[in-house]
Amino acid sequence: MKVDLHCHSTASDGVLAPAVVVARAHERGVQMLALTDHDTLEGLAEARRAATELGLQLINGIELSCTWGGATIHVLGYAFAADAPALQQAIGELHQGRWLRAEEIARRLAAKGMPGALEGARAVQQALGDSGNAPARPHFAEFLVRAGHVRDHAEAFRKWLGSGKLGDVKQHWPTLEQTVGTLREARAWISLAHPWQYDFTRSKRRRLVADFIAAGGHALEVVNGLQPAEQVGGLAILAREFGMLASVGSDFHAPGDWSELGMYRPLPEDLPPLWERFSDVHRPTSTAP
Ligand code: MN
Ligand code: MN
Ligand code: MN
Repeated sequence: MKVDLHCHSTASDGVLAPAVVVARAHERGVQMLALTDHDTLEGLAEARRAATELGLQLINGIELSCTWGGATIHVLGYAFAADAPALQQAIGELHQGRWLRAEEIARRLAAKGMPGALEGARAVQQALGDSGNAPARPHFAEFLVRAGHVRDHAEAFRKWLGSGKLGDVKQHWPTLEQTVGTLREARAWISLAHPWQYDFTRSKRRRLVADFIAAGGHALEVVNGLQPAEQVGGLAILAREFGMLASVGSDFHAPGDWSELGMYRPLPEDLPPLWERFSDVHRPTSTAP
C-alpha cells in the first residue's frame, strides 16, 4: 500500500487547497494519506469529503510545534479523536500563538526598514486560499520578495526568517512533553517529525528521542521526503535501538518544490510501520505508553 503521512495544504503553509492535495495524492497512487497541517485541523473536513469521493483512506493528522532543548520541534499526531477537548484547547492556544508570532515577526521586520509585512504576508496567504490562520514564514518570504527586499525565498530565509534569524520567533510554543501529552489525551498515534532536520549533535538527537518516548511518543519519522539515504539509515538505527514504530511522508508543501506527494525514500523493510496500527483495536490510551 502506498502511503503518505506528512503533507500540507492552504490550511497552513501549503499552496494547494485540502481537496486538491487529496486529489493530487490519489492521482499519484497514494492509497492512505494523512494531511498534517501545522497546528490546525482546519483542512480535515474538506480533505475528508474529497477522500470519500475518491475512495482514498484519509487519516486525521496534524503537525504540532513545540519546544525542547531550546529548539522548535515538530510532532506528528495521527488517527486521533478530532473533538478531544485537550487537542481543541491546545490548537486554540497555538492559533493565538501563531498570530502573536506573526505580529512579532512583522514588528521586527519593520524595525529593520521593512514595514507592512503582516498585511503583505496576509495578502499572499489570502490569495492562496481563505484561512483564519496567521501567515507563516513562507508567506513572509513571498512578501519580502514582492516588496523587493530580497531576491528569492532562499535569501529571505537566509537573511531574515531562517533558524536563529529575526523571524525565528519561538517563545509561544508549548513543551515537547505537553504536546505529546495533548496528543495522548486525544488517543493519537504520535511520531517525531524529521528528527534529522534539527541542528543537533548525535547525542542531543538521542536525548530528544529518549525524552520523546518518556513523554509517550510511539514512532520516528524515519523517512521525510528525499532526505539523504544516510540520514534514513541513521534514523533507522535509532528506531531499532529504541524499539520504535516508523512513519514516512513526503512533507509536501507545493508542486515543483523539493518534495512531491507520495515521493520519499524507501523505509528499511525490518522497521514496523506505524500506519499498520491505525486500524488496531488496541488504540493508544491517554495513560501509560
Ligand atoms: Mn511547513
Ligand atoms: Mn516540520
Ligand atoms: Mn511538515
